[in-house]
Amino acid sequence: MRPSLLQYLKLLLVLALGGVTTMHVPKPDVPTSLEALPVDGHFSFHDVSDAARDFGNMSSFPPVAVFHPSSVADIATTVRHVFLMGEHSTLTVAARGHGHSLYGQCQAAGGIVIRMESVQSNGMRVHPGTSPYVDASGGELWIDVLHETLKYGLAPKSWTDYLHLTVGGTLSNAGVSGQTFRHGPQISNVHEMEIVTGRGDIVTCSPEQNSDLFHAALGGLGQFGIITRARIALEPAPKMVRWIRVLYLDFASFATDQEMLISAEKTFNYIEGFVIINRTGILNNWRSSFDAQDPKRANQFESDEKVLFCLEMTKNFNPDEADNMEQEVNTLLSQLRYLPLSLFHTDVTYIEFLDRMGQ
Ligand SMILES: Cc1cc2nc3c(=O)[nH]c(=O)nc-3n(C[C@H](O)[C@H](O)[C@H](O)COP(=O)(O)OP(=O)(O)OC[C@H]3O[C@@H](n4cnc5c(N)ncnc54)[C@H](O)[C@@H]3O)c2cc1C
Repeated sequence: MRPSLLQYLKLLLVLALGGVTTMHVPKPDVPTSLEALPVDGHFSFHDVSDAARDFGNMSSFPPVAVFHPSSVADIATTVRHVFLMGEHSTLTVAARGHGHSLYGQCQAAGGIVIRMESVQSNGMRVHPGTSPYVDASGGELWIDVLHETLKYGLAPKSWTDYLHLTVGGTLSNAGVSGQTFRHGPQISNVHEMEIVTGRGDIVTCSPEQNSDLFHAALGGLGQFGIITRARIALEPAPKMVRWIRVLYLDFASFATDQEMLISAEKTFNYIEGFVIINRTGILNNWRSSFDAQDPKRANQFESDEKVLFCLEMTKNFNPDEADNMEQEVNTLLSQLRYLPLSLFHTDVTYIEFLDRMGQ
């Protein structure tokens, strides 16, 4: 049966309305009202294409404005202004950290994107002592948090693999890496936050104070307020790291060994497992940054398996504890069932290891 003219018209209407809902065409007076706000930062209305992109490169939603705030008060004023427009307003707000979202999470179709990296924080404050912590602004990059805390011989406990992400960006998700089995994700290592709520109030929250907001905003995908400051737990930073990689052919031994390691009392400081595609010369590639335990036999590695399983581990140490570290690592490795010729390791500084994806 051929579709009638009416059915074609209905389809066109559905497509047209679909387009309108994603574009959220703003009222023409929105830019004027934003420009009149008493803020020290500034709004861009024309140069907004960067805010309509993210790392994923799969979605592009141009905003009506990009806000470059100078302070937390600027953010609060802007959010309050949008709140006061009332529930029928379609104007949305999104905080943008480093824009490493994959699917448009840091974009606001026809709304306002707040560039968190432009907030001029008063600098990070590291508080050494028996329970050390750092107060960092939401738009701070984790690599900068690391540089600052290392000046005090301290570092956050839980990381992401890649450090060029913002504090607010990963705390809105979870922040997961090879330390998570021991310390929990990054969101489990926060004592307190300052948040601009959807009404534009600046609220301090912690497990004891405004705890609903605290727990909702951590891992809350930016839907429960804008994180403007986080108090992050620190620990003494080691100087060096023994960084180890081994390969497995079968999943069962790989998974069993990994489970054994993460449940052991005395174990590695970082443990991650990867499924990798088997390519010719895979171990030769590792040689550029790692030493083979058995260089001659590592050359002969061949396998017809399509995928291989890689366990990556580290043991922290200070140079005067190298012998101890060596012994502990050997004891742990002796309990694993990896392919012996695939054992590679290297010793690097703590910062070289943590920033391994940024170099
Ligand atoms: C190359 C790469 C490596 C990655 N590695 C890891 C990894 O090892 N572990 C891991 O857990 N994740 C990882 N991720 C995912 C990453 O944690 C998230 O994409 C994170 O959101 C990116 O942070 P961002 O600063 O770029 O945030 P954006 O992409 O700018 O924002 C992400 C979300 O958080 C919201 N948001 C941003 N700032 C704030 C704020 N201050 N307050 C409230 N909400 C805010 C945004 O509105 C948006 O919803 C990786 C991503 C990439 C691209």
